Amino acid sequence: AAKADGRRTRRLFEAAMDAALQGRRALERDLRAAVAAEALEVHFQPLVAAGSLAVTGCEALLRWRHPERGFVSPAEFIPVAEETGLIATLGEWVLRQACREAAGWPGGVRVAVNLSPVQFRTPDLVGTVARALAESGLDPARLELEITEQVMLEESAANVAVLHRLRDVGVRIAIDDFGTGYASLSYLRAFPFDKIKIDRSFTMALGREATAVAIVQAVIGLGASLGITTVAEGVETEAQLAALRRSGCGEMQGFLFSRPVPAAEVRRLVAARKAPWMTRPRMAAA
Ligand code: C2E
Ligand code: MG
Ligand code: MG
Ligand code: MG
Repeated sequence: AAKADGRRTRRLFEAAMDAALQGRRALERDLRAAVAAEALEVHFQPLVAAGSLAVTGCEALLRWRHPERGFVSPAEFIPVAEETGLIATLGEWVLRQACREAAGWPGGVRVAVNLSPVQFRTPDLVGTVARALAESGLDPARLELEITEQVMLEESAANVAVLHRLRDVGVRIAIDDFGTGYASLSYLRAFPFDKIKIDRSFTMALGREATAVAIVQAVIGLGASLGITTVAEGVETEAQLAALRRSGCGEMQGFLFSRPVPAAEVRRLVAARKAPWMTRPRMAAA
């Protein structure tokens, strides 16, 4: 009976694996078609100054509206794009769209673009970035590239060299999702980042865990002494906003201000003298 059970479990397991693999293959096929048809969109989410809450920049975030499945999250399709190598084409496309869009925004507003570690293995990442800038006429100082710890883990010496060459082009380099890795602090020694983005999980824990407040304050203090701007991701409540201001956080990003919005909408947003959330009545706690 044990043997029969084992066989049954294995069959179920294999069927589940097949389904997962087929789902992935279907996703890959659809993603290729979407890239070819340019059926993807870049949306933008504002980053705001902690004090004035004025927009300092916007992060470009990929969106895919699948014909049958509806909206597919980048968390789901970016890994598929990375595994299949499609991320090279896709990443370059996002970069060009983002630079072109940002070139039409008011002068002080920056654009942030996420780079996949896989893009660091493509032959000419620096050239791709330089071309996107030249083609759009965007001032390099207004482009911020967000990288994750994965870039610092794999091929770290080669990748750090690429980061220096990108910096030479004049762009700014941010470390994304800071605090989630194993050795975040050592990355600050490996490369002089311009910006630290504190992971959303810390922001979420702010009202609940005293430890989170201590960690966020320590990171902000560290950033300040290194001359690095710190941004808190995922700010959703007035209480989080207040706690981050008390901690001396430089910039914030989150649904409290705006969700990622289509390009046309962000154009109106950055052109307005005051963003909608700047005139909203604040809670007493803020
Ligand atoms: P990320 O770079 O850390 O981007 C921030 C994510 O947090 C976005 O999710 C954004 O919508 C979400 N977010 C912002 N504020 C809030 C908030 O207040 N609450 C909550 N719950 N979420 C918030 P999204 O757009 O789903 O993107 C997920 C991840 O996919 C990104 O994380 C990034 O790693 C990746 N990604 C997105 N676009 C691109 C791209 O063009 N290239 C690459 N390589 N990766 C991308
Ligand atoms: Mg990011
Ligand atoms: Mg992030
Ligand atoms: Mg994140």
